[in-house]
Amino acid sequence: MRTLNLFLTAALLASMSAAAQQAADSQPSAQPAAPDATQTAQPAPAAPDAAQPTQAAAAPDQTQPAQTQASQPAVIPPPAVVAAPTTMDQVVNLFIEREHGLIKMLSNRTPVVETYLQNLTADPQLGPVPSEDHYFLGRLDMGEIVDRKDYLKEEEKGMQARLLGGFTKLYKVQYQPMGFSWMVYADRTDFDREHYDFSYIRREFLGDVRCLVFDVKPKAKSGRGRFLGRIWVEDQDFNIVRLNGTYAPAPRNSYFFHMDAWRLNLIPGYWVPSYIYSEEGDFSAGVKNKLAFKAQTRIWGYDLKKSGKDDELTNIRVDSVKDESPTAQDASPLQAEREWQQQAEDNVVERLTSAGLLAPEGDVDHILQTVVNNLEVTNNIDLPRPVRTRVLLTAPLETFSVGNTIVISRGLIDVLPDEASLAAVLSHELAHIVLGHNLGSKYAFNDRMLFSDEGTYQNLGFKHIPEEEAAADKKAIELLKNSPYAQKLDNVGLFLKALQQKAPQLNALLTTHLGNPLAENGTIDRLSALAAQGPALDNSKLDQIAALPLGGRVKINPWNDHAEMVKTAPVAITSARDKMPFEVTPFYPRLARYGAGATNGAPTTAAANSTSGN
Ligand SMILES: [Zn+2]
Repeated sequence: MRTLNLFLTAALLASMSAAAQQAADSQPSAQPAAPDATQTAQPAPAAPDAAQPTQAAAAPDQTQPAQTQASQPAVIPPPAVVAAPTTMDQVVNLFIEREHGLIKMLSNRTPVVETYLQNLTADPQLGPVPSEDHYFLGRLDMGEIVDRKDYLKEEEKGMQARLLGGFTKLYKVQYQPMGFSWMVYADRTDFDREHYDFSYIRREFLGDVRCLVFDVKPKAKSGRGRFLGRIWVEDQDFNIVRLNGTYAPAPRNSYFFHMDAWRLNLIPGYWVPSYIYSEEGDFSAGVKNKLAFKAQTRIWGYDLKKSGKDDELTNIRVDSVKDESPTAQDASPLQAEREWQQQAEDNVVERLTSAGLLAPEGDVDHILQTVVNNLEVTNNIDLPRPVRTRVLLTAPLETFSVGNTIVISRGLIDVLPDEASLAAVLSHELAHIVLGHNLGSKYAFNDRMLFSDEGTYQNLGFKHIPEEEAAADKKAIELLKNSPYAQKLDNVGLFLKALQQKAPQLNALLTTHLGNPLAENGTIDRLSALAAQGPALDNSKLDQIAALPLGGRVKINPWNDHAEMVKTAPVAITSARDKMPFEVTPFYPRLARYGAGATNGAPTTAAANSTSGN
């Protein structure tokens, strides 16, 4: 039944390698930036007063009770439809009201928030490049006081504080993780006309969504830390969809950095905070600014259950499937061992998913499984249980396996340049499975799953001893040499070289939290036998793409955590500075309204049956 599926994968992964590969010669390459995001200020056909919010928000009329799920997400009624505004003053009133509506709607949510930051230094050839990096992961309590709890251990936090060096003192408050999620709202408490002046600028499209653009300034003497910048308001329901600016005035001895915050229309009537890009630093001649960094903050897991809150009984569906097989009997000792391991594997996968760290099974897994399948078929591997794959939602580059489930992080999928490199990192985990290096069985005891989400990293871990690591590497190379990827291992070598070159500056990106690290003390030791293979690393060769920037492949739906492959058009690389291996970049999501195409990976059931209470 299992067949070699290389062509299918090749097609699926076309978009994966598109951004980097061979774009240079074929493309006219005028604009390096995302073209769709900059098509500004179209003369809009309809004036804002004509924009009819008629059936706008209440659109879930196509109630499809068809795909009912075992656990339906809690139903959030869309906000009431309002009369169309006739003046800009009314528009301002509307978006202020909608902002308060959003704050209220999200007040019982505790999404996951991740910030990955790269400090920058100037390189004569490559421009600003990472000099060191920092990583923060926690849960954001969006209640009355926006607060966060961290997943990382105390000593790791202490280490980060030390790494921050001189800046800690100067920029104390804002350099703390919380500062990066500041711009989830313009102003948590006082977003109103008493504290702010709003001036209308123009209309502009962001992706598919027509927006009204306003500049926002705090009134004199309205207090410290007020939003100063620009907002984009979509012209149907008047929700803020993007904020760009900073906060002012800053308290003494501190500093607010600049942010660009994007929201997505993931449930009817609401645009939820999803991405925040921050950047500071000026590398023009004569500037002596010590603070230079760029950081991506991502928020997801809005629909996660608050820990400790029970499912409603009505949501629980018990499958009454009886084992009808004629040979039904007690398990043999080996069967029992396998059942036990399966139970442990299921426990861990379920726990990581409910902690907001693992994407539910989805499209990306099909691509990963196809690659694993290619390795298995060509090596005649026949395991008693099928190998599954899942996406870890976080940025640090890591893979691990739990029983027969291979887990790979979003960040690692992002930076891999091609399918052969993906096969290489997966082959190491497949080798652990083939060799029977199963670490998971202690998790078959359910008490070991009873911890708070923030305690996940302290309570779960899948690190192998060095001997097992070496054995898995050896086996992995064997598997690769028999596989369809055997002729492309030069690319893997190139990727490992690029990783080695950047490893000393990317300590946080290479610090794993559940599995073995790819590098130890700044030296890449994963698959090191392949690192010597392939051509020398050469930044000036524009067609040599050894590794990609972060964020280019996998997109997470912040509401339901589904992962999907990003569809981006290839953009020509015109200089060595365009390569940006392992780097963070600004966000430019293509905005679309809820239900308009699959571009947002919008949830299909979140809004169903909004009126038919159960
Ligand atoms: Zn390993």
